[in-house]
Amino acid sequence: MDDDPRRVLAHLGVRPRKSLGQHFLVDPRVATRHVDHAHLRPSDVVLEIGPGLGVLTRQLVERAKRVVAIEADRRFAAYLRQTFPEIDVIEGDALRVEWPAFDVLASNPPYRISSPLTFRLLDHPFDRAVLMYQWEFARRMVGKPGTEDYSRLSVGVYRHAACEILERVPRNAFHPQPRVDSALVRLESRPSPFPVADPEAYDAVVGALFEHRRKTVENGLRLKWSAFAASKAALDAILPTVPFRTRRVEELSPEEIARIADAIHLAKG
Ligand code: SAH
Repeated sequence: MDDDPRRVLAHLGVRPRKSLGQHFLVDPRVATRHVDHAHLRPSDVVLEIGPGLGVLTRQLVERAKRVVAIEADRRFAAYLRQTFPEIDVIEGDALRVEWPAFDVLASNPPYRISSPLTFRLLDHPFDRAVLMYQWEFARRMVGKPGTEDYSRLSVGVYRHAACEILERVPRNAFHPQPRVDSALVRLESRPSPFPVADPEAYDAVVGALFEHRRKTVENGLRLKWSAFAASKAALDAILPTVPFRTRRVEELSPEEIARIADAIHLAKG
């Protein structure tokens, strides 16, 4: 059967579900490049999130040792099991089900789960990942300090991985067509470029500071004092030991934020 998603959908008699963010890749050249960008080796185990009708899956199967796919829509899970008997299909929500061990993640996920999916990936052991994102989201992933795109996401990505926007993908590569363009992004896991005394404290500080990115560090921490100290007074006692405290959050590098987190961690003992 012709594997153009529009024809497969018609054949299966199903309509794309808006609630599951279903936008199928209909340009096979983009699908090929997506998989090329993963630099697959025959020994790689690949996790695919949201395979849909399997445009990427088809090529992953040919180039990897094993493919595990997590798909939320039962209509597609059944179709995939039938079409690719050699893969493991887990029917479920990729944000909830346990992930198997894998080397490479490949995904064109629904955009509404971009953020939680990416943070979950960064917390998981992996080697490489190639994902499709909305263009603006991809810009925030690689955002540099002092720019509009710099965010909690940029900091989280930078701490765990080398991240690169590989190409801009026009909206007409998808059916149904989304309202904005996309980007293919590669993440390569690497050790943090800077030390962090306590990763949990670091995440808490990043979270608190980026709630008010235009405020100074001091004000940002004060607004969230209960996350860092037993009382407002206790936080005020710590503040003089905190570096960069009069700087604006959006101007601080991930490493400078680590020095702030370390100072708070130290003060709390
Ligand atoms: N990768 C395919 C499909 C993209 S559409 C392609 O490029 O054509 C997004 C896919 O993710 C759909 O199949 C949708 O059912 C699935 N999906 C949506 N939410 C999901 C979730 N939380 N977990 C796993 N899959 C999900």
